[in-house]
Amino acid sequence: MLDWSEPKATPALHPGLPATALPAADATGLGVIDRGGQRVSVDDKAMINARADVNQLLPLKYRWAWEKYLSGCNNHWMPTEVSMQADIALWKSKDGLTEDERRAIKRNLGFFAASESLVANNIVLAIYRHLTNPECRQYLLRQAFEEAVHTHTFQYIVESLGLDEGELFNMYREVPSITDKAAWALKHTQSLDDPDFKTGTPAADQAFLRDLVAFYVVFEGMWFYTGFAQILSLGRRNKMVGIAEQYQYILRDESIHLNFGIDVINQIKAENPHLWTKAFQDEIRQMLRDGAEIEAAYGRDTMPRGFLGLNAGLCEQYMHFIANRRCAQLGLAPVFAETDNPFPWMSEAMDLKKEKNFFETRVIEYQNGGALSWE
Ligand code: MN
Ligand code: FE
Repeated sequence: MLDWSEPKATPALHPGLPATALPAADATGLGVIDRGGQRVSVDDKAMINARADVNQLLPLKYRWAWEKYLSGCNNHWMPTEVSMQADIALWKSKDGLTEDERRAIKRNLGFFAASESLVANNIVLAIYRHLTNPECRQYLLRQAFEEAVHTHTFQYIVESLGLDEGELFNMYREVPSITDKAAWALKHTQSLDDPDFKTGTPAADQAFLRDLVAFYVVFEGMWFYTGFAQILSLGRRNKMVGIAEQYQYILRDESIHLNFGIDVINQIKAENPHLWTKAFQDEIRQMLRDGAEIEAAYGRDTMPRGFLGLNAGLCEQYMHFIANRRCAQLGLAPVFAETDNPFPWMSEAMDLKKEKNFFETRVIEYQNGGALSWE
């Protein structure tokens, strides 16, 4: 006979113990239903290795994740709503763009075209499974859709301008400076790709953190930013204004992706301080340093001579500025000497409200509520 006067044998609520000190529950949420399980308490929820049922959004524990989900929904946009007429005319004109500008634009598009898919695949196939919190998963589902919208943007640009789709979508395999970036990030998602990979040991939890740093901080938070700066600097000179407008919307989405990633990493750190050793901090700083150097090489390759307002040197300086900023966001010491932001207009470009008539194209006020903080 069962003794109903006693709590169930499952180590349900131990407010004094960190949730991660207890045996992890079903991380996927697709296992056998625990019919008699205790109701979820906020204290049972955790970023990784949680015991709480991942199928129950409420009660919320991480309001910052829920708020990012709402902000993402408020920012909804579609690439096909942006007119490409001016871009088509300029791209087809004989001397509207220099050869150097064409090379930079094509490589920039080629980098983003495949990168949006790499980021999406990493979220869906590597991150989602191991992030054991429903409000974070809710955001990941929204982010995954946004990455689909971004990939759609490159399909729409290729179609509008009549670009060679094979050339563009293969650049991540055929242009070494782009391959180097993708290969560097892929190492980290590949280590999670092993079907037997599970979080729950310090080594595995650190591997998960490395993947978050590689994709959220370096890929979306550093490399994408030089990519945006390239196109937005052309937009400021009234060139490729349709693409520039689309990049503004992508930038707005990506700045939330980045900030979500930073919050996730910092929350995992707070819940698992044993992972954030001095050696591991040095390793993460080295990752940011490497990311900046790989980007500087890409800048030299895509802009061998540079053009008005933009060259490889400025991009490298921008990367140093951004890398130091990302270090600060993660609570790490800077990796480069202090430097000024060579593109101060980038922070304004993120605020579509201020930039309404900037490109003199049809700007739609998508933002329909919810204050956003841009870092
Ligand atoms: Mn994206
Ligand atoms: Fe993203």
